[in-house]
Amino acid sequence: MSATDRIAIVGTGLAGLSAAERLREIGWQGEITMIGEEPHRPYNRTPLSKQLLTGDRQPPDLALNVYTELDAAWRLSTRALGLDIERREVLLPGNERLPFNGLIIASGVEPRHLPGAPLHSDRIWMLRTLADARNVDAALAQAQHVAVIGGGFIGCEIACSARTRALDVTIIDVSPTLLHRALGPALGALVGDLHRDHGVKLHLGVGVSGWSEDKRGVTVQLDDGERVRADAAVVGVGTVPRVDWLWHTGLDLTDGVLCTPTTHVVDADGYAVDGIVAAGDVARWPNLRFDDTPRRVEHWINAIEMGRHAADALLAGPQTASPFTPVPRFWSHQHGVRIQSVGMPRLGTDLTILDGDPARRRIVAGYTRPGADGVPVLVGAVALDSPRALLGYRDLIGQPLAAVTMRGRAA
Ligand SMILES: Cc1cc2nc3c(=O)[nH]c(=O)nc-3n(C[C@H](O)[C@H](O)[C@H](O)COP(=O)(O)OP(=O)(O)OC[C@H]3O[C@@H](n4cnc5c(N)ncnc54)[C@H](O)[C@@H]3O)c2cc1C
Repeated sequence: MSATDRIAIVGTGLAGLSAAERLREIGWQGEITMIGEEPHRPYNRTPLSKQLLTGDRQPPDLALNVYTELDAAWRLSTRALGLDIERREVLLPGNERLPFNGLIIASGVEPRHLPGAPLHSDRIWMLRTLADARNVDAALAQAQHVAVIGGGFIGCEIACSARTRALDVTIIDVSPTLLHRALGPALGALVGDLHRDHGVKLHLGVGVSGWSEDKRGVTVQLDDGERVRADAAVVGVGTVPRVDWLWHTGLDLTDGVLCTPTTHVVDADGYAVDGIVAAGDVARWPNLRFDDTPRRVEHWINAIEMGRHAADALLAGPQTASPFTPVPRFWSHQHGVRIQSVGMPRLGTDLTILDGDPARRRIVAGYTRPGADGVPVLVGAVALDSPRALLGYRDLIGQPLAAVTMRGRAA
C-alpha cells in the first residue's frame, strides 16, 4: 500500500479507534476513513452499566482519549451497508461506494433479543450504546422495582447500579447461578450470595415464558408459574455480532467474522484475505495460546490489543503477520467487590482455589483443563477483591497446575 492509499475502518468503537491509532504509530501516511453508525466519536462503554447509571459519571466523561494525531476522515452517523471484496469497496448509503486498499472490520456486537420480549416498549430496555444507557437511566428514575433479565456481567452490573439508587431489584436467569457461563457454578454461586446480601432478589434456573404491560408497569411471567411485577425491565441476555452489512460476501459469519490466527478474514475457500482484517467483539479467531478453535472475546482490553494487532497485521500481510495470542483480561465491579479474570476460565473443566478465602469473598480461583499428557493445565484465573494476587497468575496461564501452586506458595 502507498501513502496515497486509503484504509477504511468500519466501527468507531474501541477496536476501530485502537487500530487507527496504531496505523499512525507505525507510520501509515495514507488516508484513514472511520465509518461509524453512532453519532458520537469513540467513547467508553464500560461505565454505561456502572457509573453512568449511579450518577458518578456523565456522558461527556466517557469520551476516549486519543494519544496520536489521527488525521482521520470521520464518517459518523453512517452505516456501512455492504462490502464488495473483489472491487475493494465499502457500500454506504446513497449508493456511495468507498474504495479502500485496506479494511479493518470492527463493527462490534448488539444485544441479543430475548424471544417474546416486547421490542417497542418504554418500560423494557436493552443496553449497549450511550443512547440505550440514557433510556435505562430515565426508566430507573421513574421506577421503584426493576426486573433484570439475564445474570451475566451486564445484568449483574445494572442490578448493582439500581440497588445503589435504592430500587428493588430482581434478577431472572435461566442458568442455575449468576455469571454461570463466564465463571462457572462455584464462583457464580459466590457472586449470587453477594447480590442476595445486598438485597437483590434472584430467580435462577428459570426462563421467561411471557410478558404483559399495563399503565402501571410490566409483568414478567416465569416458567415455574411465578410472576415478577416491575416498573421497568432491562434485558441483558448476551450479544449478536454486527455482521448484517457483510451478508453476501461469502465470508464465514457464524458467530462473528471468522479470522486466521493473524486476524485476517477468511474467504469462502478458507484462505486469508490480504488487505482485510477484523478486531474486537465482532472477530472470531483461534488464539493459539490456548488451541486452534476460533472464538470471540468481548473484553475491553481485547478490543484495544486486537485493534492494534490487526493494524500491524494489515500492513504486514498474511504471510508475515504474527498470530494474535493474548492472555484475555476482564474486570467488573459488583456491590463494592472487584471481579477480575485472566485467561479463558470458560475453557476450564475443573476449579482449584489458588489463594484466599471464599467465605471472605477474597479469593483467586484457578480454572484448569487436561493438557496433552492428561496433566491439568491452568487456562484461566478469577479473583474476587484480590488484584495483586491475580497478577502473579497471569504469567502462569498455560502452565501445569502443579507448577502454578508451587509458584503461588513461594510468592
Ligand atoms: C454496558 C457495557 C459494560 C461493559 N463493561 C465492561 C467491563 O467492565 N470490562 C470489560 O472488559 N468489558 C466491558 N464491556 C465490553 C467492552 O466495552 C467491549 O468489549 C468493547 O467496547 C468492544 O469494542 P468494539 O470496538 O469491538 O465494539 P463496539 O464498542 O461495539 O464498537 C462497534 C461500533 O461499530 C458500529 N457499527 C456496527 N455496525 C456498523 C455498520 N454496519 N456501519 C458502521 N458502524 C457500525 C457500532 O454502532 C459501534 O459503534 C462492556 C460492554 C458494555 C456494553
